[in-house]
Amino acid sequence: MNVWVGEGLAAQEVYTLIQLFNPIYSKIDSDHDPSNRYVLILGLLVFMLALLGIASRPMGSLACVWPANAFLLGAMIRQPLLRTPRAWLVACVSMVLADLITSSPFLIATVLSVGNLVGVYAALYVLERLPQKAHEWDQRHGVLLMIFAALVASMSAGFVGLFAYPLLFDGTAVKGYIFWSVTEFVNFIAFLPVVLSAPVFGQLWKQLKRPRRITLRSSQWMPAVLVFLLCTVTLFLEGPAKLILPIIALLWCAFSYTVFSTALLTLFFCFWTLVTLALGLDNAAGEASNWNTLMSWRVGISLIALVPIIVACYNSARKEEMESLKWSALHDALTGALNRKGLEEYHQSLAHSRSNYPLGLLMLDLDHFKSVNDQYGHSAGDKVLKAFVKNMQSHLRQEDVVARLGGEEFIVLLPQCSESAVAEIAQRIKESLRAETITLDDDQVIQVTVSIGCAYSIKGEESLSSLLCNADQALYVAKDAGRNQVVSFEASNQ
Ligand code: GH3
Ligand code: MG
Ligand code: MG
Repeated sequence: MNVWVGEGLAAQEVYTLIQLFNPIYSKIDSDHDPSNRYVLILGLLVFMLALLGIASRPMGSLACVWPANAFLLGAMIRQPLLRTPRAWLVACVSMVLADLITSSPFLIATVLSVGNLVGVYAALYVLERLPQKAHEWDQRHGVLLMIFAALVASMSAGFVGLFAYPLLFDGTAVKGYIFWSVTEFVNFIAFLPVVLSAPVFGQLWKQLKRPRRITLRSSQWMPAVLVFLLCTVTLFLEGPAKLILPIIALLWCAFSYTVFSTALLTLFFCFWTLVTLALGLDNAAGEASNWNTLMSWRVGISLIALVPIIVACYNSARKEEMESLKWSALHDALTGALNRKGLEEYHQSLAHSRSNYPLGLLMLDLDHFKSVNDQYGHSAGDKVLKAFVKNMQSHLRQEDVVARLGGEEFIVLLPQCSESAVAEIAQRIKESLRAETITLDDDQVIQVTVSIGCAYSIKGEESLSSLLCNADQALYVAKDAGRNQVVSFEASNQ
């Protein structure tokens, strides 16, 4: 899974800002363009987030929190369908509209909105031209890509400040550049990780719909509570500790939560610090009224916010690798069935509870499989093995497992299964395989049969190896009786 970038960056055409207002726009058939729905949602969200940013304007000459740009950049990275002239236009109109309805003059509304779009556009422009495409980045590189995008976006938006600051706020051009890019940077670092790591809405909805009892262990809620607690404590602190203190809790979150949850809590830290600073609730308010100190605070907040995000991404990548290694250690790479170690572990987990008994065990061996390899080649044999596992799984319940002991020999474990049901399932698998035709790449068709030995444990007195031994004996009888047979251990002893 690639948390940072849902879809590849390179797929779409690149549009320049000039093309935005090009007649190309009118040629797009809006009824058949699949991006219509997305563009509408994008426009609405940009509008609402711009209003939220504007609400923070009285706290400074410009908004102290501005989520709209990071949202726009994140949305366009994740959804290439949005990278169209129409989407740019809708985003621009949404920002200008939000400004106009909050009674900003048209000139200011337009200059500020173009400034917002320049940064987002520049970041996308550079990202699309990277030699390695975004979908090839893993989570570790993805976080570096995110920081790079935030840097490009904020430094490019700074150029608008170069002109806008003297024009709108009577400051120098250099101050305008620094002010603009630093403020953009802290906002990108705060909001972009949330947008990029947010779960896809459909998946989130599916998870929420699944009925389950939620029990929160203390290790699950304590890191988040500590973030809120330490953020409150910072109100009463002076000096560097006031900025650094919440990092302890945020690092704990990075090791305990997903990237998205950590990004949300880091956003809270940024939001809290930026707003308390601007509102003068903070002890540093006096100092922050000094321009240099305010810039220094914003740089400090951005850099501190990066730490939990980077750690969360690295931790999440490490967890994914560990899970993948664990999966490889317990599964057969060709068929995806459990391997012998996986079978032993699963059997052990079943043996812990009496409710899993009676337990059935099938030992299955494909008939004359060597001749399949000899006649059709080894890769055809591999295809048969995969098809066989898939076929078996279609007859099993969720709690049943298939394991590959080696070669063309498989085991099926059937917990909570009566003796007659075990034999019935074995018959079903045998018949179903006999009826199945496996088509090879060159359209040749193969049919195979299987011999099955069944063993059975009523109360769990037998070890796995003795169950295997019993099933092996039954299988031997089945092979001896002409193959394509099911024999159970008791029957084989008679
Ligand atoms: P029987 O009916 O007595 O079981 O005969 P058989 O040919 O199925 O049994 P035998 O043990 O003689 O041959 C098993 C063959 O399975 C030999 C080997 O080449 C093949 N085999 C083992 N592992 C793999 C694999 O991973 N892929 C493929 N394609 N073949 C495999
Ligand atoms: Mg065989
Ligand atoms: Mg064999």
